[in-house]
Amino acid sequence: MSRIVVLTDMDGTLLDHDSYSFRRALPALDLLIRRNIPVVPVTSKTSAEMTRWMKHLYLKGPFICENGCGIVIPSDYFSVEVKGCRKEGDVLKLSLGSGITQIREALGEIALELGVNLRGYGNMSSDEISSVTGLKGEELISSIQREHDEPFLMDGDCDFDTLRSAAGKRGLTVLRGDRFYHLVNHCDKGKASTILLDLYRQEYGKIRVIGLGDSHNDLDFLKVVDIPFVVQRPDGTYDPLIPEEAAQRIPGIGPNGWRIAIERFLAGEVKGFEQ
Ligand SMILES: [Mg+2]
Repeated sequence: MSRIVVLTDMDGTLLDHDSYSFRRALPALDLLIRRNIPVVPVTSKTSAEMTRWMKHLYLKGPFICENGCGIVIPSDYFSVEVKGCRKEGDVLKLSLGSGITQIREALGEIALELGVNLRGYGNMSSDEISSVTGLKGEELISSIQREHDEPFLMDGDCDFDTLRSAAGKRGLTVLRGDRFYHLVNHCDKGKASTILLDLYRQEYGKIRVIGLGDSHNDLDFLKVVDIPFVVQRPDGTYDPLIPEEAAQRIPGIGPNGWRIAIERFLAGEVKGFEQ
């Protein structure tokens, strides 16, 4: 039987959008851990934040951070060679994105060009970031340690396509997440997932991959999995930027939907993907 790998977004999917709790997903997460099925976070969170979250979640494998700009793998996780990585302590890091200084400079240029106020992490105070994200203390500090991906808010009238086009002229792209827009180099959760899943295939042969997300910035990685699921947002709707045919819609909000999707899969109730 081929090995199963689960790729999951964090905010609004495995974690509750407001409280960041994964309590409602815990029964299903526990089942996966006990069956030794890898659960790989694919998130806009930073490497520093995810290092803390992996401990909370009892996960010991790789994760994809900063919207696909970075991949972090425990150095003893794969026996196959991880090409192009650097070793930092007991992990291997793959950087796919541009440096944060260059990204922040470009954000300033785009704001001037479009005549809108784009406020990135680089020019927001810690208090302001805390009031938007609800993060405090160590978690807030970890979220600010960005290497490649600049989250930003927009004040002013500018449509998403215009914003993306201004970023595109600079070799960058804009993703829309739960709370922020994100300015990144042309890396995304899908490209990073493809690289990581190739390592799983080299290690284990044929694999079957489940993906779970809730927002537009998950679409790229939901396209590279075998069974994509989308969970409901806090108001019970699905992100309209994820087309209906792109992922199975699960009737559950955030981590509750996550639990329902995994339990359905493990019970063999997912059509075409029976256990
Ligand atoms: Mg999300």
